[in-house]
Amino acid sequence: MTISMKEKSNYLRKLPQVNDVLESLKAENMDPVALKDAVREAIDSVRRDILQAEDESPLESLASLEEIQKRIYSKINDQMTPNLRPVINATGVILHTNLGRSLLSRKALERIEKLTPSYANLEYAIDEGRRGSRHDILSGLVRDITGAEDAMVVNNNASAVLLAISALTDGGEVVVSRGELVEIGGSFRIPEIIELSGAHLKEIGTTNKVHPRDYEKAAASEEADAILKVHTSNFKVVGFTQEVELEELRAIADEHDLPLIYDLGSGLMDSLSDVGIYEPTVREALASGADLVLFSGDKLLGGPQAGIAIGKKEYIDRMKRHPLARVVRMDKMSFAALEATLESYRNPKAAREEIPTLAMITKSLDEIKDEAEALRDELIRLGYRAEVVEDKSQIGGGSCPGETLDTYVVSVEDKNCSASQLEHALRMHEPAIIGRIAKDHLLLDPRTLQKGDSKIIVDAFDYMR
Ligand SMILES: *Cc1c(COP(=O)(O)O)cnc(C)c1O
Repeated sequence: MTISMKEKSNYLRKLPQVNDVLESLKAENMDPVALKDAVREAIDSVRRDILQAEDESPLESLASLEEIQKRIYSKINDQMTPNLRPVINATGVILHTNLGRSLLSRKALERIEKLTPSYANLEYAIDEGRRGSRHDILSGLVRDITGAEDAMVVNNNASAVLLAISALTDGGEVVVSRGELVEIGGSFRIPEIIELSGAHLKEIGTTNKVHPRDYEKAAASEEADAILKVHTSNFKVVGFTQEVELEELRAIADEHDLPLIYDLGSGLMDSLSDVGIYEPTVREALASGADLVLFSGDKLLGGPQAGIAIGKKEYIDRMKRHPLARVVRMDKMSFAALEATLESYRNPKAAREEIPTLAMITKSLDEIKDEAEALRDELIRLGYRAEVVEDKSQIGGGSCPGETLDTYVVSVEDKNCSASQLEHALRMHEPAIIGRIAKDHLLLDPRTLQKGDSKIIVDAFDYMR
């Protein structure tokens, strides 16, 4: 039954007045002007809904004080919810770039908490009572744990690559194998970074093969300024392939007196081969002869977003002096977190326990199975169909392509809704719970769950019942 304009007008007249609504609200903490605006907005939105209503049924409740209050509280609630907020990662992808890569260690959090409400010696040499450099903060510690001559830290590894190439070249050519002209996460492409630095890309070899003689020829050119090797950290080429290892490149770089830069990507400090992950370590990269090794702070290193450059002092000094160094410098909060993270590496065994990324990678299969079974039992108790099945977790974050970790996941089904409806409902939960769908089942991997996450997941499933 349609409804006449006259009847709608009756309801519009019944709408509460701004002042009546204001008096009825308990929002002591809100700025009175903002509150008044919110009330007007809520009344306007109800008015619009009344005018658009197609039948009479919702009008009585729309025109009520309660409806307007509800809209105002919901708006206040939205304003109090930060845009950047925690989510529960049940995907089993450890370095999930969309979910913020590495989680910080306890020690890193404590350091941030201690340092950031205070002034700090970020660029102040306390002993000498004069200006210091932020580049000195971590150089000693990084030298100790990597064996490098010197080190420098910038905003992220993309900036470390840009800065290194900018500082070590002079409008000449950077020699890179075609098999290593990689794209990492959309906007970071090696060819573009090289052009941006003012150098020119000298592509050599083919997509699948490059030989020492290709490097020899390019390095012998008058135009050559540097050799760049890029760890193809997010894909694998298999079959008829060949790359030239750092050891061989070292000899070629020496012969032509060129810096050898290695973009390692993920900063694995100590080998993970005992858990089946074969990724070159920072120390190996350095020992193989690179003049500069560049890596991220928030991939396998397990710290905050950062780019770390280690290697020959002469080259690091050139990077520090380059104008871009200021553009890509890192913030004190990240310095605090990175210093605490790196300290854990003084004891490799402690690092595996203290650094969440490493702890998740080395989490035992028994522990994962226990957690999966406990979660399964709770979900069955709530009336869901759930079982524990073998699956694979991924390292992610553009590290270790094709290398996975054995895991157990909880596979959930519900007779009332599809896997994608379940996935959506969990994602809309606060905090959002991010799972994975495979073959019409929702999968939850305990490998990436943190303490307390399972309980939140069970409560969310309970709420959906
Ligand atoms: C991840 C990665 C980068 C970019 O590092 P960010 O810290 O994300 O800026 C550059 N090079 C390689 C090889 C990488 O794997």
